[in-house]
Amino acid sequence: MSRHVIVTGASRGIGADIARRFIAAGDLVTGWSRAGTAPEGCASSAAVDVSDSEAVTRALKEAVAAHGPVDVFVINAGITRDGLALRMSDEQWREVLSTNLDGAFYCARAALSSMVRQRSGRIVMISSISPFYGVPGQANYAAAKAGMVGLARSLAREVASRGITINVVAPGFIETDMTADLGSTSDQMNALIPLGRTGTTAEVAATVEFLSSPDAGYITGQVLAVDGGLAMGL
Ligand code: NDP
Repeated sequence: MSRHVIVTGASRGIGADIARRFIAAGDLVTGWSRAGTAPEGCASSAAVDVSDSEAVTRALKEAVAAHGPVDVFVINAGITRDGLALRMSDEQWREVLSTNLDGAFYCARAALSSMVRQRSGRIVMISSISPFYGVPGQANYAAAKAGMVGLARSLAREVASRGITINVVAPGFIETDMTADLGSTSDQMNALIPLGRTGTTAEVAATVEFLSSPDAGYITGQVLAVDGGLAMGL
C-alpha cells in the first residue's frame, strides 16, 4: 500500500536519494528544502526552512491536506559550518544548532501531531558519526547531531505505545555536496575506514527504507551507523 512520506532536505544529496527510494517503492513523497526543489516523481515539493517552527507546522498541514496523514517522516535536512571552537562565531554555532537540532524537533513534533491520531508511523532522523567519533572543527555539528539522538530516544519512549517508531541513522563519510571540499577519495581518508571506501547516498537511503518498513516494526530508539565500520561500537 502506498504511504505518505515526507523527506526534509530532499533537493540533493542523501535526501534526494531517500526520496527516490520511496518513489521507486510506489510511495507518495513530499520533499522539503529551502530551495523547494525535489527529485522527479515526488507527489509535491515545498520551500520549507526547517529552522522556522511556524513554517514547518504550516507545511505539515498543507502536506496532510494534499496527501493524507503522514506515515513516514525522514528528518534529513542538515548543514555544516565547520571551524575550530576557539574561533567559532556565535552565528556559526547557532546556525547549525537551529537547522540540525531545532529543525529536527520542529519536524518530529509536527510529524507526531499527524501520527499519534493514526496510532502508527515511522520517524527516521539522519544524525552522523561525528559526535561518536569526535571530529575537530565540528563542535557545533557534533553537539547538534548528538542532541538528535537524545531527542529521538526521548520521543521514542513517549510514543511507542501509539505504534510509532523513531530511529536514528548515523552516516559516516558519504560523497555529497556537503563533503565535496574534504577530498573524499583521498587514500588517507579511505585508509581510516575499515571497508576502505566512502559510502554512497544509496546505501544510506536503503537503511532508511528498511527502518521505515514493516520488517523493522520491533526496532525503536536505535542508532544505526552506515559508515563502513569507521565508528565501530558507537
Ligand atoms: P547536502 O548539503 O548535499 O544536502 C543538504 C540538504 O538539506 C539539501 O537538500 C538542503 O537544501 C537541505 N537543507 C539545508 N538547510 C535546510 C533548512 N534550513 N531547511 C530545509 N532544508 C535544508 O548534504 P548531505 O546530503 O550530505 O546531508 C544530508 C544529511 O546527512 C545532513 O543532515 C547531514 O548532516 C547528514 N550527514 C551527511 C554526511 C555526509 O558524509 N554527506 C555524513 C553524516 C551525516 P536547501 O539548501 O535547498 O535548503
